[in-house]
Amino acid sequence: MSYAFPPAPVIAIPAMSSNPFPVRHIYCVGRNYATHAREMGSDPEREAPFFFMKSAQAILPNQSVMPYPPATADLQPEVELVVALQTGGRNIAEDRADDRIFGYAVGLDMTRRDLQKVAKEHGRPWDMSKSFDGAAPISAITPEFYTGIINRGKIELKVNGEVRQSADLGDMIWRVPQIISALSRLVELHPGDLIFTGTPAGVGPVVSGDQIEATVAGLEPLLITIG
Ligand code: MN
Repeated sequence: MSYAFPPAPVIAIPAMSSNPFPVRHIYCVGRNYATHAREMGSDPEREAPFFFMKSAQAILPNQSVMPYPPATADLQPEVELVVALQTGGRNIAEDRADDRIFGYAVGLDMTRRDLQKVAKEHGRPWDMSKSFDGAAPISAITPEFYTGIINRGKIELKVNGEVRQSADLGDMIWRVPQIISALSRLVELHPGDLIFTGTPAGVGPVVSGDQIEATVAGLEPLLITIG
């Protein structure tokens, strides 16, 4: 089959002891740690976490320099555990969700916070604040075969060596199986889908030259420099 112009190449992430992981969709959970929900002015007791998306084109490999993006003066990284799916489905039961997991990675949900504030104030979509070039830096994926199910462990973000965010994955409001199950009741999930599972408290701006180190216990650290 030929096309009007060459189709875009598959976007893939390195995976430990495996062929690269081809990315299909990127889903993200909002307000999944009570501490972060409060710092953003929400009441986590009353509000269920919700989903938004990033384009797969936003993937940025580990150890990249991320050019400071246009149209913002308030770029903020959010460290998140990323779940990578090897099989999909609809209406997945929580106790069958783990079967879908290929592995885990460390991701940064890069956010143009000033654009997000305007979107929130006017009830507009978040896309331009969350999905832009380089907005999804991600480490290599570690297969679940090596990690087992990850539901505890330290998650941390350092900027220029200084700790900004530090929490435990056990602090998540929705656990990974609940997230997969809930999302699969909204959309059909597919092999290659990534789910960013939310960030703890401590978010703040980064500027050109900053070195970001994002870590989750047991996974490859994610190192990004802001250009
Ligand atoms: Mn986030």
